[in-house]
Amino acid sequence: MALRAKWAGSRLLLRRLRDTMARGGGAQERLDQIVRIIAADMVAEVCSLYVRRGGDILELFATQGLKPDAVHKVRFRFGDGIVGVVAATARPLALAEAQKHPAFAYRPETGEEIYSSMLGVPILRAGRLSGVLAIQNRTEREYTEEEIETLETVGMVIAEALASGEAIQQIGADIADGMAVESLRLEGVRMSEGLAMGVAVLHTGPLPITDPIAEDEDVELERLDKALGSMHSALDDLIESYRVEKSSGDLEEHLEVLEAYRMVASDRGWIKRIREAIGTGLTAEAAVAKVKGDMQARMDAVQDAYLRDRLSDFDALANRLLQHLAVDHAGASEESNDGQIPHVYIPPNSVLVARRLGPADLLDYDLSHLQAVIVEEGAPTSHVAIVARALNIPMIGHLPGIMGKVDPQDEILVEASNATCVIRPTQEFKNNFEVSMTLHKERQEAFLRDRDLPSVSTDGVDIDLKINAGLLIDVSHLESGGAAGIGLYRTEIPFMIHSEFPDIDAQEALYRKVNDQVGDKPVVFRTLDIGSDKMPSFVRPPPEDNPAMGWRAIRIGLDRQPILQDQCVALLRAAAGKKLSVMFPMVADVGEFRTAQQIFLAEHARLADEGEPLPDGLALGVMLEVPALAMQLDWLLPHVDFISIGTNDLQQFFFAADRGNSLVDGRYDPLSPAFLRFLRRIIYECNKANVPVSVCGEMAGVALDALGLIGVGCRSLSTSPAATGSIRALVRSVSIERVTEFVNARLNADSRSIRSALRSFAADNQIQI
Ligand code: PEP
Ligand code: MG
Repeated sequence: MALRAKWAGSRLLLRRLRDTMARGGGAQERLDQIVRIIAADMVAEVCSLYVRRGGDILELFATQGLKPDAVHKVRFRFGDGIVGVVAATARPLALAEAQKHPAFAYRPETGEEIYSSMLGVPILRAGRLSGVLAIQNRTEREYTEEEIETLETVGMVIAEALASGEAIQQIGADIADGMAVESLRLEGVRMSEGLAMGVAVLHTGPLPITDPIAEDEDVELERLDKALGSMHSALDDLIESYRVEKSSGDLEEHLEVLEAYRMVASDRGWIKRIREAIGTGLTAEAAVAKVKGDMQARMDAVQDAYLRDRLSDFDALANRLLQHLAVDHAGASEESNDGQIPHVYIPPNSVLVARRLGPADLLDYDLSHLQAVIVEEGAPTSHVAIVARALNIPMIGHLPGIMGKVDPQDEILVEASNATCVIRPTQEFKNNFEVSMTLHKERQEAFLRDRDLPSVSTDGVDIDLKINAGLLIDVSHLESGGAAGIGLYRTEIPFMIHSEFPDIDAQEALYRKVNDQVGDKPVVFRTLDIGSDKMPSFVRPPPEDNPAMGWRAIRIGLDRQPILQDQCVALLRAAAGKKLSVMFPMVADVGEFRTAQQIFLAEHARLADEGEPLPDGLALGVMLEVPALAMQLDWLLPHVDFISIGTNDLQQFFFAADRGNSLVDGRYDPLSPAFLRFLRRIIYECNKANVPVSVCGEMAGVALDALGLIGVGCRSLSTSPAATGSIRALVRSVSIERVTEFVNARLNADSRSIRSALRSFAADNQIQI
């Protein structure tokens, strides 16, 4: 009851606003009325609404109290003036003496010099700023917590109205001064290769909430309970149906993500906060959206990766709950929903723009309409990047602030090969891009046509081409790209999207599926490489200053031997009757390999004693990712069946430069004589000892880098599935003898990199890079 009394004012104001919005009339007229009502209700002389337009600019759209002429004329850049500060920080700002604030910017056209105090709140929708709402008073006064909260709730209601687009589009079209909408070219990090052109769809949750203000609190609480119930049982049904049928093997990992959601979906604290927001006068939808927005704001301040993941689970759950409320709102029957979350509709040619995205979020969209994805956060090794690559959807990450720079429906060009995107491109940009698209398409078609051609050089040397995989969906690309097998199967990827440690049976079932799907082609399983940036949610590691050099991969396997033993058993059982190849990651010392090998062989012997069917052959190898191991090859090689060089990690430890740190990214070149000499030596030693050696780091899939690798003797490459075509084309156009001679000569000269020389060599010799 105390809650009801506390928020009585807020509820009354929201109801008045709803009546105004429902009354109809022109968009401008309605906005004018809205600011008038807010000013009157909050006992302020001024209420102004600023709307974000064309990037980081706020425009005065309606005011009560400032000079009417200033409307659609006064604009603030982010960070400029009090309004700009509220926008830039996305936080409320309450000032008794606004003019004393260092950011205060006086605009004579507003006539605001007579007002002392000011309260500004951001208008946020799903973490994206769409404007600022401000009130001002003549007297110097302190605004109360309740006033701030009430204005924020009103801001949230306005955000939904703005998101429906009506007000902005109508008024925007009427503004004659044609405000410049800037074209922007941004550079990020390539997460998945490709080129695409489309219109922006913001990943801000489902449809705008058309009815954010409640009639009756009890009805809304009831609706919330019903939607929670149907969301819980829909998740249960969905999980169950996957479990029973397991028909869609490709999306099995999606199921694991849903299982994780199901656990957090019952979180009491989250549900309580939604109920409280309903108490302030919001509908169930608006309350869910408000709590979601609050959590997003909190998420920005959280550094801890585990906590961020948990918060982003709530984000995804809020979207699901909104879908269930929408179904309820539309009066759809339980049967018509049949327990499934429908695909989120997006128009054809959509480019999805998100702050952050999980693999399940991506799979929720209608993929046939999805051209590309760009995200504020994200790295090439993230789950979603792996899924995007598997689905062949171009994706760029690490674009800070992108959600604020793009408006829905903006045209976007995505060129993942150089990790750039162009927002609101000029006609000239589009023309050039279309030419690139056509060339890219022709190239892809040629790769497909040539997929059965042997990957043999012009002078008759075979180069073995395999793919790296981590999801079952990757395995399906084996056929389409014509690769010879899987050179690296990252077993930790399915672990990362499980909600709990998969037991032996679950692991066996997954590895068996991989084996079945590859048929006669070889596959190399890598034991768990968890730790560092790949920590499953169910493992709580001790905090580490340098996790990439910390407790990860084989170090965890040797310290927690039951984990390694279970995986060995699952791999052995799943490969019964077939050849099994397994390698261990991050080995730094021969002794580590020997111990892992003994553990594996002990499990093999135990299963044999128990009469279980066993693999037809067994090969145990090592990932060479730590430079120290390269200095122990004479001791190591007699004991291993093969070596796979993981240049991603090897390079970061060789140069002491964190592979995920953009500050040192590009500082050292893998095509440097130093690194190539190092690789040459490893390959030479392996060849001498007759131990097969391949490269499975990202270098292998970048044509020019692969050329360098071939030049230092590499004859086996394992790449991301999308790179097979370009690497085959490279191999088929190169003379091994000539490139070997060229590269080796360059390695004698003191230089930082041979990249540009190698590029010229490729151009002079018609090598396809
Ligand atoms: C590597 O380090 O090169 C490698 C292939 O392993 P990952 O990228 O999974 O660390
Ligand atoms: Mg590695």
